[in-house]
Amino acid sequence: WISTKRHKSSKPSCQPRYRLISKNPSHNNNHTFPKAMAKYIFVTGGVVSSLGKGIISASIGKLLQARGYKITIQKFDPYINIDPGTLNPYEHGECYVTVDGMETDLDLGHYERFTGIQTTKANSMTTGRIYKSVIDKERHGDFLGKTIQVVPHITDEIKNNIKYLGETGLYDFVITEIGGTIGDIESAPFLEAIRQLKWELGKDAISVHLTYVPYLRAAGELKTKPTQHSVKEMLSYGIQPDILILRTEKHLDDNMRMKVAGFCNVDLECVIQSEDLPSIYEVPVNMQRQGLDSAILRKMGIPVGETPQLGPWLHFLELRNSTTEVVNIGLVGKYNLQDAYKSISESLSHAATYHHHKVNITFINSEFLSSENIEEKLSNQDGIVICPGFGQRGIEGKILAAEYARTHDVPCFGICLGMQMMVIEFARDVLGYSDANSSEMDSQTPHNVIDMMEDQKNISNMGGTMRLGAYDCQLMKNSKVASIYGKETIRERHRHRYEFNNKYLDEYEAHGMKCTGRNPESGLVEIVEMPELKWYIGTQFHPEYQSTVLHPHPLFMSFIAAAIGC
Ligand code: GLN
Repeated sequence: WISTKRHKSSKPSCQPRYRLISKNPSHNNNHTFPKAMAKYIFVTGGVVSSLGKGIISASIGKLLQARGYKITIQKFDPYINIDPGTLNPYEHGECYVTVDGMETDLDLGHYERFTGIQTTKANSMTTGRIYKSVIDKERHGDFLGKTIQVVPHITDEIKNNIKYLGETGLYDFVITEIGGTIGDIESAPFLEAIRQLKWELGKDAISVHLTYVPYLRAAGELKTKPTQHSVKEMLSYGIQPDILILRTEKHLDDNMRMKVAGFCNVDLECVIQSEDLPSIYEVPVNMQRQGLDSAILRKMGIPVGETPQLGPWLHFLELRNSTTEVVNIGLVGKYNLQDAYKSISESLSHAATYHHHKVNITFINSEFLSSENIEEKLSNQDGIVICPGFGQRGIEGKILAAEYARTHDVPCFGICLGMQMMVIEFARDVLGYSDANSSEMDSQTPHNVIDMMEDQKNISNMGGTMRLGAYDCQLMKNSKVASIYGKETIRERHRHRYEFNNKYLDEYEAHGMKCTGRNPESGLVEIVEMPELKWYIGTQFHPEYQSTVLHPHPLFMSFIAAAIGC
C-alpha cells in the first residue's frame, strides 16, 4: 500500500482542505470543502519509556469517538525491523495481529480494545518499512538522479504514510503515536516530519506530549524539571507541544500545573495529569474529567459543545469496581513478562468483569512445570489457559498442564500452540502414541499429529510469512463452540505455521476429542473440544485479538463462566 506514486512533497496550502464528518449533527460544520480530510494528533513521549502513550492515544480516540467523530489510531515505531513479528516477546511484548495479517506492536491492541475500531497494515509503520520503501523507489529509478537523504526523502515518506489514512476521507481525526522516547537518535526523522506537518497544516495538527513527573520520596517533592527538559528537547526539534500530559504517582496541585504551563509555553487547561489508576480503563474517564478532549478541540479551532456521557464504558468500570468475587486463572506460558500475553490477560479481564468477577491471573512458567509440582501449581486454579508460543522451550510443561486439566476436568483454554499441546497430549495419553509431537519440535517424529502447513514448506524468510490474519471458520452444528458463538460461521485471526494433521482426525473424534471448527476451504482444523468435559477447548486461532471492552469475546465469556462454575 506504500504506493510509488505517492512520492511528492506535500506543499503547504492556504486553502481549507477538509470537512469534518461527525455523526453528531451538532458537531458538523456547515462549510462544504471539496474533500473530506482529517485532522492530525501526534502523541510523543519524553523522559522515560513505558509511560503509556498507547493508552493515552487510545483514550483520546475513545473520547473523540464519544463526541461522534470518526477516528483511527496509528503507531509509528522508530526501529529498523520491518515489523515486530520476528521480535522476542522479552524485547517487545506481545505481537498483535490485525485482521489483514500485519504483525504489529501491542499498542494496536489497546487501540482496538478501547475504541472497537479495526486496525490494518496502514495503522502500523516502522523505520524499517519507511527505508525499505524509499530504497525500493530509488532502485526503481523514481527519484530521477537525486541524492537520497533523510531530509527530505525519508521525512517525506513518513509524512505520506502519516497522511495515508487521513486522505481516505474516512476519518475526522488520525491519531499518530510515535514509539520510543524524545531524544532517541532513531526518533529524529519522525519529529522532523511532525514539525513539517504542523507547519503545513496549522491548527489541523497538534502535538500531545506525555512526560513523567517523578516523586522524590526523600525530598517529599514532585519534580517538574524532567518535563521542562523534555519540552526543551521537543523545541529543539522545532515542535512546541500543544498539550502536555504528566504521568505522576501523586496528585499535582494547580501551582505545579501552572509552573509547568509557564515553563513550557502551554495553556494551563492543556496541562493534564495522568495519575496512576487502578486500571488502564479508568484513563479515558480521568482524561475526560480534566477536559483533554475539549482542550484538543479548542486547540484545533473546533466548537467544543457538551461533554458526552461515556455510558457503556462507565457501566463496565462500575462492574469492575463493584465486584469482590475472584476467579483464579493459571496462565501457562514461557514468558514471565506482563506484556507477553497482553491481549489474553485483557480478554480474561473483560470477560470476568461482565461475570461480576475480578480475574486473578497467576503466571505459571511451563519450563518449570513437572509431574512433581503440577498439583501444587494448578490445583488452586479455577481455569487454565495454555498460551501461544514458538519453539521447544517449555512445551513439555504445557503438555503436562493439558493433561492435568483434562484428567481433573478443570476448564482449560488452549490458544494456538496451547491447542497444539492439547492435541499432542491427547495423542500420547489417549491414542497411545507416546512419541507424538509437532514437527516444529521434532521433525522426525513418527506421529506428527501437528504438522507444518503445506504452503509453509518452501518458505525460507521468517518475517511476515506465517498464516496471518483473519480466516473463516465453519463450526460444527450442535457443538459447544457453535452454541458459544451463537452462529456457525466465524472469522478469527491467526498467526501460525503448523496445523492439526488431518490424517489423525477420525481417531481423535472416535476417542472423544472433536474437531468442531474447520476452515471451509482447506479443511484445516481450527478448533478442538472435548464435549464430555466441562470446558476443554483449543483454538488454532487467537480469539484474544478480538475482545474489546464493550464486546468481550464469547469464548472468553464462556470460559470464565465455566471457571466460576456457572
Ligand atoms: N508455533 C506454533 C505454530 O507456528 C504456534 C504459534 C502460536 O502459538 N502463535 O504453528
